Amino acid sequence: MITKFLLPEDRIPTTWYNVLADLPKPVPPMLHPGTREPLTPADLAPLFPEALIAQEFSTEAEIDIPGAVIDVYRQWRPSPLVRAHRLERALDTPARIYFKYEGVSPAGSHKPNTAVPQAYYNKQAGVQKLTTETGAGQWGSSLALACSYFGLECEVFMVKVSYQQKPYRRGLMETFGATVHASPSELTDSGLAALAADPDATGSLGLAISEAVEAAVKSGGRAKYALGSVLNHVLMHQTVIGQEALLQMELAEDYPDVVIGAAGGGSNFGGLVLPFLREQLAGGRSVQAIAVEPASCPTLTQGRYEYDFGDTAGLTPLTMMHTLGHDFVPPSIHAGGLRYHGMAPIISALKDLDLLQARAVAQTACFEAGTLFARNEGIVPAPESTHAVRVAIDEALACKESGEARTILFTLSGHGHFDMQAYIDYFAGKLKD
Ligand SMILES: *Cc1c(COP(=O)(O)O)cnc(C)c1O
Repeated sequence: MITKFLLPEDRIPTTWYNVLADLPKPVPPMLHPGTREPLTPADLAPLFPEALIAQEFSTEAEIDIPGAVIDVYRQWRPSPLVRAHRLERALDTPARIYFKYEGVSPAGSHKPNTAVPQAYYNKQAGVQKLTTETGAGQWGSSLALACSYFGLECEVFMVKVSYQQKPYRRGLMETFGATVHASPSELTDSGLAALAADPDATGSLGLAISEAVEAAVKSGGRAKYALGSVLNHVLMHQTVIGQEALLQMELAEDYPDVVIGAAGGGSNFGGLVLPFLREQLAGGRSVQAIAVEPASCPTLTQGRYEYDFGDTAGLTPLTMMHTLGHDFVPPSIHAGGLRYHGMAPIISALKDLDLLQARAVAQTACFEAGTLFARNEGIVPAPESTHAVRVAIDEALACKESGEARTILFTLSGHGHFDMQAYIDYFAGKLKD
């Protein structure tokens, strides 16, 4: 009875997969916020280095991963694929449940998979500092880690409610050498405007993005900006997850009927699912792909598919995506990484093409699932990841009803060791849906 399907370091993928090469219909282009004309690579130059802009616009199916990036990936990749035998028994389900565990990275989530190449390309381009936003702190700590590896300064605008709720994430970012500000801050015009409107504003990802973008644009070229999800190049970097999972499912002599991931901006979900969709689009086996989001921030299930800004202040390009509106401020649930008003254009387009489904789940049901998972598999899921766990368990329970032995694969996108207050609140019955 094999539990962990492990690959050696020499099976770390050497290319990232770009789904834009294979989509039946092109993804609508981003638009310039001023002119509303399709965005050109030059428009992004103040924010990103040339290599990442080229990746953002690329329609090549495969892009080489630089050796220096692979050398960092070696610290935790290939990540394990685990068969959840004990959870299967606890659920008394005929389903086979596998999870791809991304919590083994130094920051505890999938986010270093893109933070590392982003820091690398910025360093190559002579940039000295990266600015960014963070919600729960997962992305900020991943970028802080990557910046420390490549000798870059890192400035993080952290959504104020998380800054207050998650002091240890802030401590981790500072340990990796980053400077962290609560957002809204008094350091940017967008922050000052938000504080003028509401001195007690608890912030949002959209606002923190405005602040980080503004700080980069006003740096006189010293700093650039990094985004932890949503963009094409970010989803592409995360495809190392699904490419490894394909090989590991082969080791398990199995293939998923259903693939599941929690979706905030869509990067860990896309990272797992896109390589499986590649097989499907090439005439191989098809999979049921399910993106899971919080009921309190139901971007894919209830948002409109239209052009919207990625940030609150309207500084970013207009993106065709499922959106709740760029001024939407979601309730302060514990899954901070899922509190984003928009969704990756790639994931939005796939939803529009019916190549994936979306499901919204309530917070307490997620912690119930996360707790059951921890008690059987020994890993405490990040609050974001509990969304994927919830739907994986629901699918396994449906198999118990129907007697079908389906194969279920999900990303356990991170561990929850910095989020124990969320579990404590759940046990105390204090969580609201
Ligand atoms: C950030 C985060 C997410 C959500 O972001 P995606 O880009 O949708 O993957 C999910 N899980 C964890 C652990 C995260 O840190």
